Amino acid sequence: MSGSIADLRKSIKGSVCEPGDQGYDLHKWSPYSTKPSKIIITPEEIDDISKAIKASFARSQGLPFAIRGGGHSTSTASATEGLLIDMRRMNKIRVDEQNRIGYIQAGARTHDIEVELIKYGLAACVGACSQVSIGGYTLGGGLGYSTGAYGLAADNMVSATVVLATGEIVQASDSENPDLLWALRGAGSNFGVVAELGVKLHPQRPDVYSISYVYLPSQLPVVVDAINEWLKVQKDNEAFQFGFSLGMDGSPYAMITGISNSTQEEGETAYKCFVDLGPVHTTCAQIPYDKVSTQADLYNEIPGGKDTVGAHIDKFDLAQVQKSWDAWSELIKKAPQSLVMYEFYPYGKIASVPLEHGAFAQRHSFITVLCLAIWTDDNFTPYIRNELLKVRRVVSRSSCEAAQESLGYPNYANLFATLNETDEYARKLFGPNYPRLQELKKKYDPDMVFDRWFAIRPAP
Ligand SMILES: Cc1cc2nc3c(=O)[nH]c(=O)nc-3n(C[C@H](O)[C@H](O)[C@H](O)COP(=O)(O)OP(=O)(O)OC[C@H]3O[C@@H](n4cnc5c(N)ncnc54)[C@H](O)[C@@H]3O)c2cc1C
Repeated sequence: MSGSIADLRKSIKGSVCEPGDQGYDLHKWSPYSTKPSKIIITPEEIDDISKAIKASFARSQGLPFAIRGGGHSTSTASATEGLLIDMRRMNKIRVDEQNRIGYIQAGARTHDIEVELIKYGLAACVGACSQVSIGGYTLGGGLGYSTGAYGLAADNMVSATVVLATGEIVQASDSENPDLLWALRGAGSNFGVVAELGVKLHPQRPDVYSISYVYLPSQLPVVVDAINEWLKVQKDNEAFQFGFSLGMDGSPYAMITGISNSTQEEGETAYKCFVDLGPVHTTCAQIPYDKVSTQADLYNEIPGGKDTVGAHIDKFDLAQVQKSWDAWSELIKKAPQSLVMYEFYPYGKIASVPLEHGAFAQRHSFITVLCLAIWTDDNFTPYIRNELLKVRRVVSRSSCEAAQESLGYPNYANLFATLNETDEYARKLFGPNYPRLQELKKKYDPDMVFDRWFAIRPAP
């Protein structure tokens, strides 16, 4: 075994680490979602990934195998006791200005992408967290402040360079392996290691209007009313999250945080209704575009175990909000930093794309909700997961049946992602697209080398 590792060390540009080696780094956003890997390979170039898979300790020695992007999922899908491919150094960005396409290596993080692209007055579809990798984010869908204007990140992906289970490097685009591109638009890490993504770029102004309003629990009725009124006139360049959180003083608050991708004047006009409600705390300012995702950096530092479930709702009303507030109040007794966040990203563009466009199957016009538990005492883990599921049930309860049955937005459905003993959850997640995904799994990964995240079973 160590002879083979020595060979691999010599043959790749990147690094190969075993426990105890300098550079052996298992860090993930949620420390409870890591596993002690036997080998970590950190590629510098695409060939490194191919060699790692071809040399495949993972396959020949029966080691499990996983891919780590930004390490921000709270599931163990990007962790393994076997061979881990860590994409952190695959982070180069190339811009084709004329065709407005960005060729972005999959390990590049949101903030690096914002900083690079704004030099050209352009932006890609990225999420609200500075440290998430473009690979993990896009392959699971990809929501963010640009969703209203341009839709899902996965729908903006026009090509990908992929290392398959055999180690072969292939292109996926409309002209080469279009079926693979179809699968990558939502099927996560089921088909290979994505080394680089080709994504549509869009014109971006240099600054945006950023908002943060904090309200008392007694203000919930007026805030919910105001949100429902505002939703009737929401523009594609406006989006925010409405959530429950404990303040620095340990008291529970409701918060609205988000942006208007516009001038300050337009932003102030758009969100005036929320100022008129008399928030107890307000922080609003025109900020540089490349600071948007760093607004949430506080959450990157937060210690403790984390887990998430997603919910979809079609009804946002006070009775529903009050019940989820009560369920959240129970959860924070053991996990005080936990959050429930309703995301008001306009979903119309996503819903307007036909189901057949890609593997991503949540094309209903729902509101996405992120239920996130954060806790520090490992003994509470089973209890917390149970409470998290309760919050999710309560959040979804008054919505239609399809919403209640949905696992929610895939990138938030971490609690279900690695329950792979059967394909029950994969079937649920991919819905009508599942049979086609099974056929493609048979074609591209019949031995299920990639079996970590909502593992798809190959067709018989
Ligand atoms: C604080 C925070 C804020 C977030 N905000 C948003 C948001 O605004 N919008 C949104 O849509 N999501 C958001 N997310 C969710 C995030 O998009 C997902 O958790 C995503 O999967 C994280 O990707 P990652 O690469 O950072 O994580 P990882 O844990 O490294 O990977 C997640 C999954 O993607 C796979 N993967 C990663 N890279 C590759 C690759 N190159 N090839 C093949 N498979 C790969 C992994 O194997 C794993 O299955 C947020 C998460 C956090 C923690």
